[in-house]
Amino acid sequence: MSTITKALMAATISLTSMASTGAKAEPFNYHVDNFADIEVLRYQVPGFESLTPQQRLLIYYLTEAAIAGRDILWDQNSRYGLELRQLLEYIYTHYEGDRSSADFKAFETYLKQVWFGNGVYHHYSMDKFTPAFSRDFFMEQLAKVPVSVQGKHTAEIIRLIFDPEFLPKKVNQADGVDLILTSATNLYGDGVTQQEVEDYYNALKDTTDATPVSYGLNTRVVKENGRIVEQTYRLGGMYSDAIARIIDNLTKALDYAENDTQRQVIEKLISYYRSGDLKEFDDYSIAWVNDLASQVDFINGFIESYDDPLGMTGNWESIVNFKNIPASHRTEVISDNAQWFEDHSPVDARFRKEKVKGVSAKVITAAILAGDSYPATPIGINLPNANWIRAVHGSKSVTIENITEAYDAASHGNGFNEEFVPDTAICSLMDRYLFITDNLHTDLHECLGHGSGRLLPGVDPDALKAHGSTLEEARADLFALYYLADPKLIELGLLDNPDAYKAEYYKYMLNGLMTQLMRIEPGKDVEEAHMRNRKLIAEWALRAGAPKKVVELVKQNGKTYLVINDYEALRGLFGKLLAEIQRIKSEGDYEAGRRLVEEYAVKVDPELHREVLDRYSHLSIAPYKGFVNPVYTLVTDSEGQPVDVTISYEEDYPAQMLRYGRDYSPLTSK
Ligand code: ZN
Repeated sequence: MSTITKALMAATISLTSMASTGAKAEPFNYHVDNFADIEVLRYQVPGFESLTPQQRLLIYYLTEAAIAGRDILWDQNSRYGLELRQLLEYIYTHYEGDRSSADFKAFETYLKQVWFGNGVYHHYSMDKFTPAFSRDFFMEQLAKVPVSVQGKHTAEIIRLIFDPEFLPKKVNQADGVDLILTSATNLYGDGVTQQEVEDYYNALKDTTDATPVSYGLNTRVVKENGRIVEQTYRLGGMYSDAIARIIDNLTKALDYAENDTQRQVIEKLISYYRSGDLKEFDDYSIAWVNDLASQVDFINGFIESYDDPLGMTGNWESIVNFKNIPASHRTEVISDNAQWFEDHSPVDARFRKEKVKGVSAKVITAAILAGDSYPATPIGINLPNANWIRAVHGSKSVTIENITEAYDAASHGNGFNEEFVPDTAICSLMDRYLFITDNLHTDLHECLGHGSGRLLPGVDPDALKAHGSTLEEARADLFALYYLADPKLIELGLLDNPDAYKAEYYKYMLNGLMTQLMRIEPGKDVEEAHMRNRKLIAEWALRAGAPKKVVELVKQNGKTYLVINDYEALRGLFGKLLAEIQRIKSEGDYEAGRRLVEEYAVKVDPELHREVLDRYSHLSIAPYKGFVNPVYTLVTDSEGQPVDVTISYEEDYPAQMLRYGRDYSPLTSK
């Protein structure tokens, strides 16, 4: 924990207020770092200064509890992750040779990638990073590292770095192989097979239980004396030292809770971290979803299970945030009018909900990103994950607007529009309205889209099987796209220009038809559900509108450009596809769903793909982005009591990573 005196704080405050009131304030510098396929940005925390000192202190201890769990994720990602990090950081900070040499530069890039992946695997592709420095260089540096820093697995770590065959993929999703044995993730111990784990959980599960716990959410599964055993993440169990530090900071946060409900939320979380009992996690989740009055909010725990090949164990993560009250007015208006939107949706009346309940949704400002949400982060969250809690108690949906704002600000002037959007009129619409229409699209998608419509009686909610998530995302996106162009949004005061929606329509079609292909390797299909959904919608609309030339791809000087000739007609097509996908879902028409996905969402035109990759290669736009956090500093009075917190944005990427590695590593042997 860092503290400064009050005098220093006064200096900081006057500087800040000068910056915000002075006419010649320096523009905020969003750009932090660039390496490999990554761009690191920083985000602002607008409104932090307007919170009360009590709220700022609450945020401070919650952010400390957030960073305290960082090592857990590193260990979940790879059994050698923490030792590897310690070794690489030692070499990086103690290197005495030429820091501009090719080997050292390559080593630095590798370390930056490892930091970004919270381990040796790419956060998105799950593939292992390939070092561009020589083995000789590394062995020479390794010889200078004291034995006490090296840890017990140096031989494995050398293999991990240099042998592409050794633990090559963090999470394997390929069909027909043992997903646990072929995944490098440390959520399972050596030699545990998929069959053994499935048998183990099937024996535990009671299919008649209406309120089942999330089995396996907070455990590592190992084999002991031939038996399958769960090692629970809890105080006194696995990751105890990190969890003790999380609990310590949550306990300090209790003193600054905004109200009793919030205090109970924090107490329930502490109690769950002590016991590891998943029933307590459900109690906590219910209390959390019911806390709608507090301005400060946070998640902290084992939450999303995308990185478990069987989708059970949660990766550790934390986000601390506070409600952006003026912007949340937007989601409240949408939520309050949920019934109007449902009643006027272009789907068959039989598939509409008679009584729709808008999801409680708000716009938030992130104060810290941690664990699995750092440095790469989501822009929206909808939790809790347990289906029965969502059905009985509801869920909270948020849009993280200071993160979307940073993405938007950092993208201005990157050459994208000049390359892909030749029409100056649409360019200026995008400059003016893309930020707000993008956010409105997310709001409509999350607050209304997913919750709209209903299944006919007797239809299995899982009837669409493997295509379910692509079709579900398409349904929510289409709901949002359709209403983005509705005069109702002007009437509700959410937009001030009837043409604003065109900015989002153009970007959406361009992304779905062309620009998102920059994330796909040549020769590969589109796999990820959100990317499939965008491709499905855009390709379908292109082809369905072809006879009337609603949308066209035209070639000019060897380059393909998107032209939208009739925005009104495009809206009509979105409505038509929404009606069809709602029918597919409501009737559980698997065959029609499969045909739509396979026909429009998967296959890539190799020629267009090559062109897009080539055009991107001339722009310096990283396919993936992430963030450094601001630095929070405790202010104490003359007795050493905390009285306030200040925020600063100066820290760069390696400095932050090294500081976290030094000051927040309870699981790393020192
Ligand atoms: Zn969604």
